[in-house]
Amino acid sequence: MFSFISDSEIRDAMKKELERQREGLEMIPSENFTSMAVMEAVGSILTNKYSEGYAGKRYYGGNQYIDVIESKAIERAKKLFKVPYANVQPYSGSPANTEVYFSICSPGDVIMGLNLSDGGHLTHGWSTSISGKVFKSIAYHVKPDGYINIQEARELAEKNKPRLIWVGATAYTRELPFEEFGEIADDVGAYLAADISHVAGLIVGGAHKSPVDYAHIITTTTHKTLRGPRGAMIMVTNKGIEKDKDLPEKIDKIVFPGMQGGPHDHVTAGIAIALDEASKPDFTLYARQIVKNSRALASSLKQNGVKLVTDGTDNHMILIDLTPFGKGLGVFVQDALDAAGITVNKNTIPGEPSSPFYPSGIRLGTPALTTRGMKEKEMDLIGAWISEIVKLVKNNRLIENKEERVEYLKKFRLELQSNTKVKQVREQVLSLCSKFPLYPELKD
Ligand SMILES: *Cc1c(COP(=O)(O)O)cnc(C)c1O
Repeated sequence: MFSFISDSEIRDAMKKELERQREGLEMIPSENFTSMAVMEAVGSILTNKYSEGYAGKRYYGGNQYIDVIESKAIERAKKLFKVPYANVQPYSGSPANTEVYFSICSPGDVIMGLNLSDGGHLTHGWSTSISGKVFKSIAYHVKPDGYINIQEARELAEKNKPRLIWVGATAYTRELPFEEFGEIADDVGAYLAADISHVAGLIVGGAHKSPVDYAHIITTTTHKTLRGPRGAMIMVTNKGIEKDKDLPEKIDKIVFPGMQGGPHDHVTAGIAIALDEASKPDFTLYARQIVKNSRALASSLKQNGVKLVTDGTDNHMILIDLTPFGKGLGVFVQDALDAAGITVNKNTIPGEPSSPFYPSGIRLGTPALTTRGMKEKEMDLIGAWISEIVKLVKNNRLIENKEERVEYLKKFRLELQSNTKVKQVREQVLSLCSKFPLYPELKD
């Protein structure tokens, strides 16, 4: 494996990373394990080519085969998402969203998105993102029960008349209210962009409703539940073309030459392959199993006394609310789970009482474990292990003084290494992982 990489510093780290992926439970909901076919495309000679422009209209020669690949990716995206237009060149989700802004908004325009600590994405108008600096950003929120506050969004839209409204999230465990947001956008004359980065796989797999009838624009990353390579797409719906027939052309122009140079053709090939995989009956089963697993995990956690935002889940994701035990405990739980071989991320929760760096929640999900073949039975076990770890560290407290806090966390991490409970869970995780081999094709 990695036999061509003679640079031992990089090769060793890559080997260790493969081992980490194999021997741990990958539960970050934005991650997944892509197929060998997708990886072969991404690691291929296609990385050598420059192909600025679009199929049939390139700035360099020698693009006859790249044209085939990109056209296939577009055709498959259109078919799978039932849209008349797709651009597969965005380098990733954040550039894709920025491209949407600059294709329909001017600096200073009012835009609306879900607030960051309520589950929204940085690119939906957060103050530290370009989107919050260049545009006048208005945030809507979730209600105390954790569900998106549609009434508030409507009132804010009516008052502020945004040019663009985002519906989409990065930490939200319920189905997105596409239809309701479609009505709001229509009533105030706004564009509605559905950012389905997290749930694209659930949508094409039929586990969630599609925004295609309600949004004008759809953006998605390709590497989350869709299980493709790291990349993104921008699509325009029929509703979008009815609102502005030039929208596809505007988006093409902003992607290139507006924001980007040469597309990543190796990734485009990976996207084309992933879209084909996602169109197969197997993928429908996969998408449904992701949700079944997520529900099973949620009920296991709840049975073991762990509180969840919205008290459950409709999708691939679960948000643990640690506030019953104290403020800002996310870091302790994340680090202890890490030591036990369970990878999750600390996350803000609605009404976050601590801070984004020391939040009070844990975000976790089932797409990657489901790819490995795990089912409800395994989720039951994992839910119990996570609950044990939560209980193990719940009495820690975030220290106010910064230097003391750093020292305390250092000591905490060191002690985890020798903690009997952590070691026990680590052993169980290892044994479970060995029953669900990851990339057996990759030999030493
Ligand atoms: C992941 C994500 C993005 C950004 O994708 P990157 O590829 O990390 O830039 C944008 N929007 C949402 C809702 C996401 O979940």
